[in-house]
Amino acid sequence: MVTGKPLLTAEQISHRVRELGDMITEDYSGKKLLAVGILKGAFMFFSDLVKKIRVPLTVDFIIASSYVKTGTSGEVKIHYDIRDDISGKNVLLVEDIVDTGITLNHIRELILTRSPESIMICAFLDKKERRMVDVPIDYRGFEIPNEFVVGYGLDYNDMFRNLPYISVFKKST
Ligand code: 5GP
Repeated sequence: MVTGKPLLTAEQISHRVRELGDMITEDYSGKKLLAVGILKGAFMFFSDLVKKIRVPLTVDFIIASSYVKTGTSGEVKIHYDIRDDISGKNVLLVEDIVDTGITLNHIRELILTRSPESIMICAFLDKKERRMVDVPIDYRGFEIPNEFVVGYGLDYNDMFRNLPYISVFKKST
């Protein structure tokens, strides 16, 4: 079940997304950007964020899932890959939440093999406590405690993605 009051309200989220958009706009001033959303979880954050970025940009998507095995290794499966040629482009990877860091690290390394001009990472949520792989986060929405959260694109069994806020999810007993 979705617990009590939201961890992050829709108002807090929209305020922070505007701030992130302003930072990215400033940093990429005079450049063109390829914003890559990591689906499904980042779909809502991605669409709100790109509306707040005021430099010319194109969009593309990656669909990935990760399976954590024992220890520090995990396996990442890419179900859908970027269609554009990304060599020489300024890529901004947009992720919903960084937990162990395995998914994002794998995607970042994959992109780096394709010779982009630059690669930056924007993550809506950061569960720093759980990190197993060190991945550089250039733009961070919020750092959150080690709780399973849903809403604003994030799911439990594919549900709750449509909530306009972030809540902690607990399995009811
Ligand atoms: P990582 O590879 O960093 O461990 O996992 C990242 C992915 O795990 C995220 O893209 C997301 O799909 C899922 N994930 C990690 N923590 C949470 C959480 O608290 N809530 C939800 N809904 N998904 C999570």
